This record gives sequence, C-alpha cells and structure tokens, in this order.
Amino acid sequence: MYCRNCGKELADNSLYCNNCGASQTNDKLIDDNKETKVWGILSIIFDLVPGFLVFGLVFAIVGLCTYQQKENKILCWIGIGLFIAMLIIYIVLLLFVIYMGTIAFFEALWRANNH
Ligand SMILES: [Zn+2]
Repeated sequence: MYCRNCGKELADNSLYCNNCGASQTNDKLIDDNKETKVWGILSIIFDLVPGFLVFGLVFAIVGLCTYQQKENKILCWIGIGLFIAMLIIYIVLLLFVIYMGTIAFFEALWRANNH
C-alpha cells in the first residue's frame, strides 16, 4: 500500500505513514453520534404492544443490521430477548385459554348428557 497523503510505499496494514505521519485508516468514519436509538426503542415498545410483537422483532433485526455502536446493538438484543419472552407468554396464555375452553366444553357436554 501507499500513503494516501504523500504516496510513499508503506507496509500493508500500516495505520500511519512513517514518512509524513498521515493516518492510513479507512475514512469510512462512521459518525457514531448520528446513530439514533430509534430501532432499538421501537423494538422494545412494539414487543410490549399486544398484536404488534412481530414488529418488535423486525425493528430489532433492522437495528442490528444498521447499528455500529455496541450499546445500540445491545438495545436490539434486548428487543429480541423481549420478543422471545413475550412470545412464550402469549403461547402459554393461548394454551391456557384453549385448555380452559376445552374443559368448559366437556363440562357443558357432560351436564347436557346427565340432565
Ligand atoms: Zn505519507
């Protein structure tokens, strides 16, 4: 590789030019400050709104794909964790309702046959 400032040949992966001192790191400088927490926050909010659980997962994944900042990624992982937790709660509730409904149904059937 060559120095991007003075053009002197440098060892590959050099971080600085040993001739002029210019930084050789990629200038894909991600402006961390521009990153908003919106995907992570949306994810957590939607996780908690019944019926919109899937959006919580979608926003978390979008955030994970978008974010560079670690703390924002963690926010997304919380969103995914919350999604899984809420999903389990909904499934348990659903099974409970089905279970109670089945019992009520057979009880009604039993009463109808015994009167
Ligand atoms: Zn240089």
